[in-house]
Amino acid sequence: MPTSQERPIRATGGCLCGSVRYTIRGAVRDVWACHCILCRRLHSHFGAYAACDPADLEIAPTNKLRWYRSSPTARRGFCSKCGAQIFWDGKGSDHISIAAGTLNEPTGLKLIKHICVNQKGDYYEIADGLPQAGQEPDRL
Ligand SMILES: [Zn+2]
Repeated sequence: MPTSQERPIRATGGCLCGSVRYTIRGAVRDVWACHCILCRRLHSHFGAYAACDPADLEIAPTNKLRWYRSSPTARRGFCSKCGAQIFWDGKGSDHISIAAGTLNEPTGLKLIKHICVNQKGDYYEIADGLPQAGQEPDRL
């Protein structure tokens, strides 16, 4: 078995100021747009997240990374210097979600669905024809 350091890099990214950077060595899920009130408060509009297996994610350095418990079942990782929202980590989840805007391009990813649409803002419509799900809040 190759060690994790020898596995090919699938994606990289980081926060606005570059204090928090990450590398993903493994499959990256396509992007979900989450319209829950928590994402909307945090991101100013809906949240857009890719995801990966937590074992495939390397975060470095971590001294500026902070975690905010956004609900009883999840926490959000952000940069304490620039404030960028980077990660969603759900209790018992088999994946960690990565804010799509923090990925370096080309991502090779696509927006594939909308979730928590029952909590979307009243000032916009979702009209791109992609699948929509109600879903419980804070499950990215
Ligand atoms: Zn930063």
